[in-house]
Amino acid sequence: MSSVLIIGAGGVGGVVAHKCAQLPEVFSEICLASRTKSKCDAIAAQIKEKTGRTIQTAQVDADDVAQTAQLIRQLKPKVLINVALPYQDLTIMEACLEAGTDYLDTANYEPHDEARFSYEYQWPYDGRFKEKGRMALLGSGFDPGVTNVYCAYAQKHFFDEIHTVDIIDANAGDHGLPFATNFNPEINIREITANGRYWEGGQWKETAPLSVHSPFNFPEPQVGTRDIYLLYHEEMESLVKHIRGLKRIRFWMTFSQKYLTHLRVLENVGMTKIEPIDFQGQKIIPLEFLKAVLPDPSSLGPLTKGKTCIGCVFTGIKDGKYVEKYIYNVCDHQECYREVCSQAISYTTGVPAMIGAKLMVTDVWKKSGVWNMEQLDPDPFMEDLNKHGLPWEVVDGKPYVEQLAALEAAAG
Ligand code: NDP
Repeated sequence: MSSVLIIGAGGVGGVVAHKCAQLPEVFSEICLASRTKSKCDAIAAQIKEKTGRTIQTAQVDADDVAQTAQLIRQLKPKVLINVALPYQDLTIMEACLEAGTDYLDTANYEPHDEARFSYEYQWPYDGRFKEKGRMALLGSGFDPGVTNVYCAYAQKHFFDEIHTVDIIDANAGDHGLPFATNFNPEINIREITANGRYWEGGQWKETAPLSVHSPFNFPEPQVGTRDIYLLYHEEMESLVKHIRGLKRIRFWMTFSQKYLTHLRVLENVGMTKIEPIDFQGQKIIPLEFLKAVLPDPSSLGPLTKGKTCIGCVFTGIKDGKYVEKYIYNVCDHQECYREVCSQAISYTTGVPAMIGAKLMVTDVWKKSGVWNMEQLDPDPFMEDLNKHGLPWEVVDGKPYVEQLAALEAAAG
């Protein structure tokens, strides 16, 4: 029986709160805190209706270490789940150290004024978390998160050496709106408009944004064939350190032509810029303004139909033989909405955050210091994915490796 403090009442925060509330034997007390308390109260009302449980709510500005530490001291949670924005990671980690609790997040720190995300800001906290006997678990969402655990599971059970990993993230959902992002628009657009990057032969290689792409036929018929685009994604930064024998790792995401056309126009007119501009005597950041006029991702739940399919294609060696595997999950937007009033993108992030916290508070993943997901035993996490709404499949990777190889052949 443990108490949990969740910070951030957006799409993901709502799912985390619902999923924690479904496990009263693990999370006996839940507090959902965020900048706007009315959003926490609305989620608390949904949870009351779905589960009969009452959760606490609170207002907090997580950019303020002292205020956040005070809330931690008041509630004494066993773990704090940070599902606010990546900008708050460092202040919340500081507050956890100051007030004494364990920390979990789903996205690595990003400075506000630079589209740059890296673990280099959070890894140096390792010594301080160790000194205090506290644990920080980084990136316990789906990607990063489950994709890292899939890698650890493949390393433990199927390979002596993993040579290549292709992480492939497909969202075949349709919300019927001309343009909307399915998680925080600011973070999403910063990620997609950055240069692509992958790691091969011990080096990072850069590609122009969204310039490398190909059709890919997914195992789930309702996802079918979609264009996948090479992007940089944060889990690669830790996986290159922790996966044995790795020669190449890439990350791919699907986008529709409609989405990309809107994005191109917004970029061309300057709406995705993060440098402040003067507007009627005020400084505004175009991307922040764009976020304010785009649909709130948490409002897409009732509208979105279709499925997601996210997983990892591996090649490598086991007992001297070449092996290919594909591990993936398929998630249905409407089923997620029925269960926790949210679409599948928030669901696939919120469920792993709950599972990571569960393994921490039950001392199954008991550590001190700063940890990435693939450094921990994947088996209990994989078991919990099957129990808590994100079941996975392992299949022969050959047809998928062949498709990726065809792409390389076409690129010359
Ligand atoms: P939203 O924008 O929907 O929600 C963010 C929430 O954080 C809002 O409730 C916001 O409050 C709150 N917040 C922002 N700043 C502060 C602050 N200073 N103090 C307190 N609360 C604050 O985002 P999502 O729910 O879509 O995403 C949440 C996190 O999940 C992000 O870090 C995102 O990068 C990550 N993510 C991870 C994925 C993965 O697979 N690993 C996938 C998708 C998302 P307010 O309502 O007042 O604005």
